[in-house]
This record gives sequence, C-alpha cells and structure tokens, in this order.
Amino acid sequence: PTEILIVGGGLAGSEAAFQLAERGHAVRLVEMKPHKRTPAQTGDGLAELVCSNSLRGAALGNAVGLLKEELRRAGSLILRCADLTAVPAGGALAVDRERFSAEVTRALSAHPRITIESREVTAIPAERPVILATGPLTTDALAADLERAVGAEHLAYYDAIAPILSADSLDWDKVWKQSRYGKGGEAESEGGDDAYVNCPFDEAQYRAFVRALVESEKVPARDFEEPRYFEGCLPCEVMAERGEMTLAFGPMKPVGLVDPRTDKRPYAVVQLRQEDEAGTAYNLVGFQTRMKYGEQLRVFRMIPGLEEAEFLRMGSVHRNTFVNAPEQLGPGMELLARPGVFLAGQISGVEGYVESAAGGLLCGLLLAQRQRGETLRPPPPTTALGGLLTHLTRKQPRYQPSNITWAHVAPLPLEDGQRKLRKRARYDAMAERALRDIDAWLATHP
Ligand code: FAD
Repeated sequence: PTEILIVGGGLAGSEAAFQLAERGHAVRLVEMKPHKRTPAQTGDGLAELVCSNSLRGAALGNAVGLLKEELRRAGSLILRCADLTAVPAGGALAVDRERFSAEVTRALSAHPRITIESREVTAIPAERPVILATGPLTTDALAADLERAVGAEHLAYYDAIAPILSADSLDWDKVWKQSRYGKGGEAESEGGDDAYVNCPFDEAQYRAFVRALVESEKVPARDFEEPRYFEGCLPCEVMAERGEMTLAFGPMKPVGLVDPRTDKRPYAVVQLRQEDEAGTAYNLVGFQTRMKYGEQLRVFRMIPGLEEAEFLRMGSVHRNTFVNAPEQLGPGMELLARPGVFLAGQISGVEGYVESAAGGLLCGLLLAQRQRGETLRPPPPTTALGGLLTHLTRKQPRYQPSNITWAHVAPLPLEDGQRKLRKRARYDAMAERALRDIDAWLATHP
C-alpha cells in the first residue's frame, strides 16, 4: 500500500503512526526535533509531555478515565507506554516522562514499517495521504500555509475558553431560560427562546462581582504566550479592568430580558449557553478567563444561581494553533479544502494529552478503513472515542478546544429512567454502556 506521511511526532502523530503501521501501512513520520523545538519542549524524544506528567483521572466514572480505558482496549501505543512507566499518583495515571517518551521512541524506531525523519515541514506537503499532527505550537511557516488553506477566520492561534457547568447543578429557582428579544440570541440559528439561561444581578451584586474579577489571581502568561487577544473574545477580567461598566454594556447587558420572578429587567445578567443537544451542560457566554482555577470557583460562584455550580471544564487562555474542525473537516478528519490531508490531535481542537493521543488513534483507524476502500464507520457516539468525534463535528457558534467531558458522550435514553439517576450512578452507567459498545465496535473493525 501507499506510504503514509505523518508530520509531528507528538502524542497524536506517534499514536497515528503506530496504528497505521500495525495495520500494514508503511509510515514516514517527520518530526523536527532535535533540529528545532517548540518553546515548550526540552527533550529530544517523541511524545514529549511538555508540562504536567499526569494523564489525569483513572476512574471509569470520569470521562477521561473512560477514554483511557477505551484506548487501552483499542491497542493504543501511548496508553501501553503510559501504563508501563506509571508512577504512584493516587486516583490518576501519571508517568515518568523521560521513560514514557523513551518507550514511545523505542517502539516506533524499532517498528519495521515506520521510518522516522528529522526535519521541519514548512508547508502542507504534496504527498497524499498526509496527516498533520503538529500540535498547539505548530511552527509559523506551516501554520501560515494551513491558514492559507482554510482561511484566516478558521485558524486560531490562541484559545480563550469559558467554563462549562453541569445543568443539574444550577439553582433553577433563581435562573430562567430566555433568549434576548425572544429570539435565538446572538444568532437565530442557535436555537429557540430557551437556548440561553440567565442569571440576574442587582446593582450591588454586579459591582461586587466586577471587583472580585479585577482583584482575582490570574495565571501568569509564559514568554511565548504574550497576550494578543482578539477583541471579540477578551478574557472577562480584562474587560472588567477596562471599567466598572464595560461588562454591563458587553456580555452582561440585560437588554431584551425580563426576570419572570420580578417582571423586571435585571441590572445585569450572565448568560449560559447550552453546550450539548440534551442540555446537560452549559457554558458561561463571554467568560473566557485566565483566573486561577480556585479563583474561578470562588468568583463564578458569586453569580446568582451558580452558588453550587459544578464545573465540567474550567476556563483558560493560552497559545494554541487549531482549525475550526466542525467547519473545515469532513468525516475521517480530512481537510475539506485539501482532500487527502488529515488533521490529528490538538491542531483539530481536542485538548489534553489523552485526547490528543485519542485523536491520533481515531485518525489512524479511520484512515486505515478508507485505505481499505470501506465506508467510514466511526466508533459509536455512546463511547468516549465517539464523543471526541462529536466534539470535532458538532457545529458551534464559536468553536473552542475541549477536553473530553460527559457532555460529549450521548446521554442515556430517557425511557431507561436512568437520567433520573444520581450523577455518579449515571456516569457509571454511561461508562458501562461505552465499554460494551467500544468492545463491539472493535470486534468488527480490525
Ligand atoms: P504535540 O505533542 O505538541 O506534538 C506535535 C509535534 O509536532 C511536536 O513534537 C513538534 O516538535 C512537532 N512539530 C511542530 N511543528 C512542526 C513542523 N513544522 N515540522 C515538523 N514537526 C513539527 N495537556 C495536558 O493534558 N496536560 C498538560 O499539563 C498540558 N500542558 C500543556 C502545556 C503547554 C505549554 C502546551 C502548549 C500544551 C499543554 N497541554 C497539556 C496540551 C496538549 O495536551 C499537549 O500540547 C499535547 O502534547 C498535544 O498533543 P499533539 O500530538 O497534538 O501535539
């Protein structure tokens, strides 16, 4: 079969290379190290973990724990090397990063069908098929070429992420569903009158909230993350610093909204937008933030109705090159603008070590199906691997990278009565169903 070119030997590229080679394909893996490194890298090996050495929670009642177990069952190289080099970390899977990277490097270097080449790729290669897996710090020349391919509005160099909350942790006695002017909010296509949930502030609450945002502790930017925000997605604390009323005239403007409990327009509102079809999760519209995680919990729980909110994802802002996947990728993670070019890992808008490895595995398996001339059969949406694909394909008003969360996995059917289960029991039931479904899928997809 044709040789498959993969650019980037990080978590996604290494995993994709292994999966394709194991399925009989000759693979050329091009990694720029050791000639050049991204500003976050220090080592020379493949699959370098640039920051924490943790692959996060191990328990199956945790979405990333489930994703890891699915990867294990799917024969992931990254998970095998992580298990082999694990260090004690309580309920998490953490690894000895040097040994982990060395194991991945050894396995790929020794593979009879993999050739590793060391050079920087400065434009989308002409070879087909090619997988780009160059990660959040893709070098400038290649990123510029990718930007030419997809258009500047579909390639981001930063992500500014707002937190996501679980719907059943909101205080529904205080908040209410309504879109501004009874329409679908910012864009009518986003939904009907109940696409948004509103948290009402009186004047004293608003002023205290803005003060807390300004005074909160922020995560310091690294050298290569010098803030260059788009005006359209400024962190909320930056807006708060511009003036006490900036938020009240921006994302917190109350126009077009009436609190059904007072029949009045509130002084200000924070709006939450539905995150998934089933309405199990909501994001805080316009509240991308660089506050430290503990500060986010403290400050955002000052929002009326969010006093007990459970955070499914925290907000953050950092340097991150990624493509607007739901608009730019076809099935099988193929760039619509460049047929035969596939994206894997963080560059497609997944977030995290495990998710990037999973993106590489998915890209590899789907490309192998395609090379065999089969119609693509992705893993079912009831699984965490399928959920990751749901994230890459679900159209959203402002696509942002995401870790895997339960909101990506298809909810349990109502008729089971299982949605009424307590959250822990529900997640356990979803994990059990996912493992059953992934086993069945793997059995029919060699
Ligand atoms: P990478 O692992 O970055 O791999 C991309 C590879 O492509 C690199 O080896 C790079 O050298 C190579 N490359 C880049 N451009 C070119 C080119 N033009 N030609 C040839 N090769 C090229 N996630 C977590 O889960 N936990 C964390 O603690 C964490 N910390 C992070 C800290 C920082 C500073 C950053 C930037 C990200 C962090 N992430 C973290 C997010 C993410 O999970 C990792 O970046 C992850 O490594 C992404 O996997 P990837 O395979 O997509 O990209």
